[in-house]
Amino acid sequence: MRGYNFSSGPAALPLPVLERARDEMLEWGDERASVMEISHRGKGFVAMAEQAEQDLRELMSVPNNYRILFLQGGATAHFSQIPMNFSSLDRQADYVLTGSWSEKAAKEAKFNTKVKIIASAASENFTMIPDFSTWNSSSDAAYLHYTSNETIHGVEFHHIPNSGDVPLIADMSSNILSRPLDVSKFGMIYAGAQKNLGPSGLVVAIIRDDLLEKSNTNLPAIFRYAANSAEKSLLNTPPTFSWYLAGLVFQWVKNEGGVRVMGEHNAQKAALLYDYIDQSGFYTNPVAKNARSRMNVPFRLRDEALDAVFLKESEAIGLMALKGHRSVGGMRASIYNAMPLSGVQALIEFMQDFVVRHG
Ligand SMILES: *Cc1c(COP(=O)(O)O)cnc(C)c1O
Repeated sequence: MRGYNFSSGPAALPLPVLERARDEMLEWGDERASVMEISHRGKGFVAMAEQAEQDLRELMSVPNNYRILFLQGGATAHFSQIPMNFSSLDRQADYVLTGSWSEKAAKEAKFNTKVKIIASAASENFTMIPDFSTWNSSSDAAYLHYTSNETIHGVEFHHIPNSGDVPLIADMSSNILSRPLDVSKFGMIYAGAQKNLGPSGLVVAIIRDDLLEKSNTNLPAIFRYAANSAEKSLLNTPPTFSWYLAGLVFQWVKNEGGVRVMGEHNAQKAALLYDYIDQSGFYTNPVAKNARSRMNVPFRLRDEALDAVFLKESEAIGLMALKGHRSVGGMRASIYNAMPLSGVQALIEFMQDFVVRHG
């Protein structure tokens, strides 16, 4: 029996999406074959791909002067491709460090740009977001990069930083489509699909036209965003199944009422869980209240020696994948769009019961 899946990624997908994919697994549309077995240049696939893009554009209210790309390589490839496209070794790019993922992005960027760390929460063990007023940003930077939700540390930006005229670039892998967002504040948004959009193998990138227009041309086409954009993400064979499944997720989000409703559900789920943790006297979350993630909730038990029992007992009743990341320890409940309120309620009930028996 399927349990409640708290995996940080690849993460839970909405059940109606999986059911639909199952139902059309052997024969998709009138192709007399599965969606995985047909040409990405055929009419059927192209129509589906364009619909998925259109649905995402509508869901996120993406302005007309932005392209939406469906790419590969995971968010990790884009840690490198961003400086390759928009900077150079003699130009500076600004990075904000708020956890493991932004650290990795900055580390990988160094091969293709001068990296300047303009703010860092490393000395606070990544439990807060440095106040915007302390950011030492530069007006001539190629771009300003930050990670809008730190999947491992459970730290989320609840406001968009102001980067002035410098293009703002955000890794939104783990909170894209989780709430309303003003896309027009960004030069580029990118996200690996396997947290909130679909299965792994796909990256969605939303890039403003003027960045594409002045991006570097001395790169192999496959690494150039402008070249991928010119070919509508069909420069080579795209991850066809992931694209299709992400399209089903977009339709599901639309049916649920869009990002506004997602945002309300996510706020409600997170508030329930944090409120319980804070008043439990047994579990703790170290993150500053104004920076707590609505998507990833790390928590510790009063006694680390109970971690193994907690995991064994939770799995036995179908609460899956609660183990925290090895760098942070303890537990982590990832409660993306696809996690229903009932899953969070079941988790809290288990946590309460665990305290009664082991506290
Ligand atoms: C998961 C994740 C990544 C890495 O994604 P890959 O697809 O494995 O490259 C990068 N950034 C954030 C915020 C993530 O959550």
